[in-house]
Amino acid sequence: MVCDISYALTMICPYCASDTKVTNSRPSHKFPEVWRRRQCKTCNNIWTTREYLDLSTTHRVINRDSKIEAFQRDKLLLSIKDSLSHRKNSLTEASALTDTVLSRILTQKTAQISFTLICAQTYDVLMRFDKTAAAVYIAIHGENEE
Ligand SMILES: [Zn+2]
Repeated sequence: MVCDISYALTMICPYCASDTKVTNSRPSHKFPEVWRRRQCKTCNNIWTTREYLDLSTTHRVINRDSKIEAFQRDKLLLSIKDSLSHRKNSLTEASALTDTVLSRILTQKTAQISFTLICAQTYDVLMRFDKTAAAVYIAIHGENEE
C-alpha cells in the first residue's frame, strides 16, 4: 500500500475550512524549516505555511544556577527585541536575528546548551548587526549582572 503523503499534510482552509493542497514547497538553507504555498480546493485562496523545528522539544538550556529547562524561542526573541527598542522595525529584525542565533545553536550539535553560550552567540550576532543593541543586550544578560 502506498502512503498518501498529501493526505497526511492536509490543513484546513483559514477562509472556508475546506481541504487544501500544497502547490509549492521549499526548504530553508539557514534553518530546519520548510516553506509551503497552499491553496484551498474549494475557494481557491492561496497562503503560506511554515513547518519548522520546535527546539523546545529537542533542546535544553542549562541556566547559570544549573537549573535545566526546555529551550524557549520566545524568550530569546524577547531578549533580542528588548535590545533593539531604539530601532524602528525591532520585532521583524528581532525575529530574523533570533533565527540566526538558532542556526548557530544547531551547529553546536548538542541538545544541552548553556545559557552562557546562548548569550555569547546572541551578543556576537547583535554586534554584527547593531553595536548599541549588543551593548544593551550584554548590560541586561551579561555575566556581571548575576
Ligand atoms: Zn477555502
